[in-house]
Amino acid sequence: MTTVGILGGGQLARMLALSGAPLGLRFLVMDVTGDACAGQFAPMVVGDYRDEAALAEFASRIDVATFDFENVPAESAQWLSARVPVFPSPRALATAQDRLAEKTLFRELGIPVPAFAAVASRAELDAAIAGIGAPAVLKTRRLGYDGKGQFRLKAASDADAAWAALGPQAETVGLILEAFVPFDRELSVVAVRGRDGEFRAWPLTENWHVDGVLSASLAPARVDPALAATAYDYARRLATALDYVGVFALELFCKGGGLLANELAPRVHNSGHWTIEGSESSQFQNHLRAVLGLPLGDTRMVGTACMLNWIGAMPDPDAVLREAGGHWHDYGKSSRAGRKVGHATLREDSAPALAEALSRIGAALDRPAQVAPVIARLREG
Ligand code: AMP
Repeated sequence: MTTVGILGGGQLARMLALSGAPLGLRFLVMDVTGDACAGQFAPMVVGDYRDEAALAEFASRIDVATFDFENVPAESAQWLSARVPVFPSPRALATAQDRLAEKTLFRELGIPVPAFAAVASRAELDAAIAGIGAPAVLKTRRLGYDGKGQFRLKAASDADAAWAALGPQAETVGLILEAFVPFDRELSVVAVRGRDGEFRAWPLTENWHVDGVLSASLAPARVDPALAATAYDYARRLATALDYVGVFALELFCKGGGLLANELAPRVHNSGHWTIEGSESSQFQNHLRAVLGLPLGDTRMVGTACMLNWIGAMPDPDAVLREAGGHWHDYGKSSRAGRKVGHATLREDSAPALAEALSRIGAALDRPAQVAPVIARLREG
């Protein structure tokens, strides 16, 4: 009996555990809180990721470790890797945890990125603004997610406000200034690399964010195949360079027919949730197969799919459950503003059928704005 240990007990760990059940796997989840939602399906070790006693107990009860959360301290991952196999590797995790290291690697690999500069002081912020120009985005190098730890500068005169907001974090988590990209679309490549180096990617996904948080994803993204091929090539270069094992997402901005890399998520990703029903093998299934050294599953799509995120509170499931291609995912979390509490995936055989299903859902749940950009894209032809 193989037990997979997951650091972080949120919805990603929960969906990994659900996906691993048919493989006969057992799971052990480590989280700082005992009510983490993966704990409804798997036993837990509750403790701080830096607590060596808790980590030692976790390590003693598992065969392999992985993550649902990329901000697990890299030293804890390193400590664990001396005791059990850890995938993705602590080195890949450490690179993806630091926006500066990540963007530097993208650049080294010939993957285009928005202009960026490290910022360690107020003077360096002014120098970075002079070099990059405005608009720009000041971000924490570490620990930011879902648009948190970011400040948008419309003009150079916003430097004072940006420094007031994030300056205190310059010494703790570091800061980076990036050019603001007036993108046409946001895309992501969700891909998997096996222990033997085999690489597979799911069809490219288009994503829409609201206030920095993913709101909807559409797959396959309706883009030129040459652009998709470029995106896969970037993802493959990254995975190879990091000797990556497992699923990851590369988030990209598309502007004027070109691509700029935003960030690498070293884990299963929200923009890949549609793969549960929309693909031959889901991202969760393939992540487990990769970390266990099993053959990877096929990543081809079945039809066309849209994922809608539920943020804050779960809506009424009725309208989605009534759809032939409707699939409901309630993460079993309590409601809280800004919190990802669930999602729905609508899967249909054609784009027009998906657009119709989405307009029914948008009307029934009174969320026209959430479905509108997806419907517009589907109707572009
Ligand atoms: P991140 O945490 O870097 O993924 O940022 C969250 C979201 O903020 C992205 O998905 C974009 O919608 C937006 N964003 C982040 N960085 C930039 C940028 N340099 N230019 C334009 N939008 C950005």
